[in-house]
Amino acid sequence: MKTGRWLQNYPHFLERVYQLTEWLFKRLDPAIRRIGYGRIDRWIHVPEAWAKRAVFGCKMCGQCILHSTGMTCPMNCPKNLRNGPCGGVRPNGHCEVIPEMRCVWVEAYERSLRMPIYGQELLELQPPVNRRLEDSSAWINLLTGMDKRVPAGWAGMSYIPLVPKEMGGWGDE
Ligand code: SF4
Repeated sequence: MKTGRWLQNYPHFLERVYQLTEWLFKRLDPAIRRIGYGRIDRWIHVPEAWAKRAVFGCKMCGQCILHSTGMTCPMNCPKNLRNGPCGGVRPNGHCEVIPEMRCVWVEAYERSLRMPIYGQELLELQPPVNRRLEDSSAWINLLTGMDKRVPAGWAGMSYIPLVPKEMGGWGDE
């Protein structure tokens, strides 16, 4: 896990790896569809879980939003918040539930500022997590679009107001 944390502190490298992997999966989509999404899921979800657990402490939610959350897994938040932080962040940036742990969302924010490709996606409002996708491959769910399905009545992914540059944010484009 130490190596994972070290790697997470190079979020630009990780977002490039994500970009390349997404490109690869999309190129392979026609072949994957022919073989069967379910079958490929059974083959890849174990190595996917292993690799993402080692680096990100992944909980295999099946709807990976790492690249939108500063390459920091939101499921490590004890409240499983997909939009954070909550109001309980301590003045030292630590979690109110696990005081010895830094808030996942403080780390997500800090890292997203060093992500020129996907950093601004931290401002996207994420839909509630779909627990039925747990333990399935997020890559396959991305290809099938299952990871984007939202509950009836959900207004869609909208942006929250931008953080001004002078406050260390991205500012208006
Ligand atoms: S967002 Fe979900 S799939 Fe991605 S690392 Fe976290 S638990 Fe794993």
